[in-house]
Amino acid sequence: MSKSLQAIRGMNDILPEQTPLWRYFEGTVARLLDNYGYRQIRMPIVEFTELFKRSIGEVTDIVEKEMYTFDDRNGDSLTLRPEGTAACVRAVLEHGITGGGQVQKLWYIGPMFRHERPQKGRYRQFHQIGCEVFNLDGPDIDAELIVLTWRLWGELGIRDAVKLELNSLGTAQARARYRDALVEFLSARLEHLDEDNQRRLKTNPLRVLDTKNPDTQAVLVDAPKMADYLDEESRVHFEGLKARLDAAGIPYVINPKLVRGLDYYSKTVFEWVTDKLGAQGTVCAGGRYDGLVEQMGGKPTSGVGFAMGIERLVLMLEALDKVPEELARQVDVYLCAFGEAAELAALTLSERVRDQLPNLRLQINAGAGSFKSQFKKADKSGALYALILGDDELAQQVVGFKPLRGQGEQQSIAWDALAAHLATCVVQG
Ligand code: ATP
Ligand code: MG
Repeated sequence: MSKSLQAIRGMNDILPEQTPLWRYFEGTVARLLDNYGYRQIRMPIVEFTELFKRSIGEVTDIVEKEMYTFDDRNGDSLTLRPEGTAACVRAVLEHGITGGGQVQKLWYIGPMFRHERPQKGRYRQFHQIGCEVFNLDGPDIDAELIVLTWRLWGELGIRDAVKLELNSLGTAQARARYRDALVEFLSARLEHLDEDNQRRLKTNPLRVLDTKNPDTQAVLVDAPKMADYLDEESRVHFEGLKARLDAAGIPYVINPKLVRGLDYYSKTVFEWVTDKLGAQGTVCAGGRYDGLVEQMGGKPTSGVGFAMGIERLVLMLEALDKVPEELARQVDVYLCAFGEAAELAALTLSERVRDQLPNLRLQINAGAGSFKSQFKKADKSGALYALILGDDELAQQVVGFKPLRGQGEQQSIAWDALAAHLATCVVQG
């Protein structure tokens, strides 16, 4: 196929075989968030480029090299959103729903776009579910975000495979003091830094902390520690968070090198990581960003949130064999009709059944075919039962009812009794 008729590299179709697992995952998260009192918000996927530059920070991987930016027909510079927080903050400001100190607990889901090198668990269009909470500044809400993701891992059966890493970046002032100390320390050891880290040192020195270069990592062993520069307020906040996680029985490790890629974080930052996905090990990441709303022109408003990568979590469910068995079956009952008159009757009969059993997953054979080929399709659909409607059944106003899984004789069921009969043998979700 010519290249221009293929999907763009790193942007994937999610095929019908995969969508049940996606919907299971998304449905599980959505239900959980609803139950914790979070409300969904939907933002456009395109925003003014300036929004991301201002909020994420000019000197970050995302803004420097990962954004899909283009001029629209008016000459405005627009960008496909690389993440959700910036647009969410823009939306709450624009609609004035946090400015009076109102608490907002929001969540969103959707595609994000970053021009990265595609590989397993890293794509150019990927999907996130994220949460943002405004106007709650205590550690209890940081804890709640972590507790609810912990519950999610439990429901998905992957708790044993994820680890929580935590750090505190302090207030902006504390971070500035720490940054100065780090710059002084690293500047005296410039010759041990690679080119990339020398550049980071000038532009965004905290990013040196999450270097993958072993030489730089060795230098960092003796570097000043953020923990020693934490202001009292941040220290108390961090202790409060840890106490709550301890009380909830959630294990964590403190990772002093966890700084996160974006400029806007303050105080709490965290990541849920796994060793089941190779290099792309972070499945959920977040933190507090108390200065962001003000920086974007709003009143001082605290904020905290996280985003999880759906692809990585779906990959993980597959890798750990945690795909629920029932997802393999998307059809309960498969109706095979033979002959024009029977096909007509099948339509009205199935509509009557649907009226009475709105959750029944009933599929009618599509297109003609021999008895044998229809049966094959019925079996392949995963259905529990086949219904057979031919000329004989039509004459008697019955259907043949045949269990497809395991034993069980074929029976004849009167049309009037069909819905009631199905209700007794198909467990409806
Ligand atoms: P990474 O360090 O893996 O690049 P990040 O710090 O850039 O991640 P965030 O901006 O915090 O990621 O996004 C939150 C989550 O979204 C990540 O933890 C990950 O699960 C997912 N994610 C981020 N970028 C991608 C991508 N290119 N493809 C797939 N998932 C991604
Ligand atoms: Mg990244």
